[in-house]
Amino acid sequence: MNESPQVAALGLDRTRRVAMILVVVSGLTLVGIALWRVATTPTSQTVTPEIMGTTTHLTAVGRRADLGPALDAAQAALRSVNRTMSTYDPSSELSRINAGQSPDDIAPELGAVLEFGLHMSSRTDGAFDATVYPLVQLWAKAAAAGRPPDDAELADARSHVGWRKVSLTMDPLNPQPATQPGGRRWVLRMPVGTQITLDAIAKGDAVDLAVAAMRTGRHLAGGMVEVGGDLRCFGRPADGGFWRVGVQSPWEEGRVLMRLRPLTDSGELCVCTSGNYRRYYEIAGKRYSHIIDPATGEPADAVPSVTVIAPSCMKADGWATALSVLGVEKGLKLVEQESGVEAMFVTGTKDNPEYHYSSGFKKYVIEE
Ligand code: AMP
Ligand code: MG
Repeated sequence: MNESPQVAALGLDRTRRVAMILVVVSGLTLVGIALWRVATTPTSQTVTPEIMGTTTHLTAVGRRADLGPALDAAQAALRSVNRTMSTYDPSSELSRINAGQSPDDIAPELGAVLEFGLHMSSRTDGAFDATVYPLVQLWAKAAAAGRPPDDAELADARSHVGWRKVSLTMDPLNPQPATQPGGRRWVLRMPVGTQITLDAIAKGDAVDLAVAAMRTGRHLAGGMVEVGGDLRCFGRPADGGFWRVGVQSPWEEGRVLMRLRPLTDSGELCVCTSGNYRRYYEIAGKRYSHIIDPATGEPADAVPSVTVIAPSCMKADGWATALSVLGVEKGLKLVEQESGVEAMFVTGTKDNPEYHYSSGFKKYVIEE
């Protein structure tokens, strides 16, 4: 049976319409897939705000929509640590404690960092000592006055220094509910005149907390936070390779001595460098390290730089400072006993640098 021309035309029309719809739908699908790929292909965003009196680098890698909020959360964490533990801000909780205010019930995060500081002191036989603050201030004042401190000034400052003067306990009768961060109520006791700086570990703590804040509630492909020489990364950079962490020369700003890489698929790596090239006192044309040997009250100038790898950035930060005081021989002996901690000292001169490694450090070095 023949179709009438009208019906045939209708049939043709329908075929054409269906074809057009198919073209439009597949076009939209392609556009949709392209947009979805743009939205879900890992891309990265970096911000470099100045926080804690130093330059910072924060990078998040993941879905575009996650990046801004991840970086905001990380910056908020850095600022929060600074508000609590800064010695430069007179309104920080630590500054108020140092000014002699009742140290009962200190913030759990401050308690946790100070507890780690005291642990570092006992591990390093006092080479790490958060109570060096009177000496730090003395040397800063001396630098401003343009002359080293005299013996009487040194002896006075030293009389207030000593980590055993600090008692940090958990109040067993009045613990904080377990839902509080840290879940403990810390009670701090120390004699009048004793003052604390947590500058040697607060940056590392801030980096750890910033990375945790970046990741909370999101599936980032990777990320990295660096605050003045303290760095933590995880996952992968946007190119899908692995993170490469440059170790700077203590003599030439911006010159990279070697690059380190994470060893596991998690991409996790914590690296801190302590050295007298970033921050130092200058008195009568001579540079002095900002790291003080608590045993002598003098700046610890023997080691130009120490780089430490550890399971957390706070730990790496603490060890990097302590090893600067301990020096190569004593330092390497102690590090070998510390599981998960590896160190590399740089000594010598710009033209003749010498490297001293703990037994597990070199496996992180990228052969180039
Ligand atoms: P970092 O840059 O991590 O090595 O920390 C150095 C800062 O920690 C100094 O600017 C001081 O405020 C403080 N500090 C100096 N000497 C010591 C020490 N022996 N133990 C603990 N903190 C120290
Ligand atoms: Mg440190």
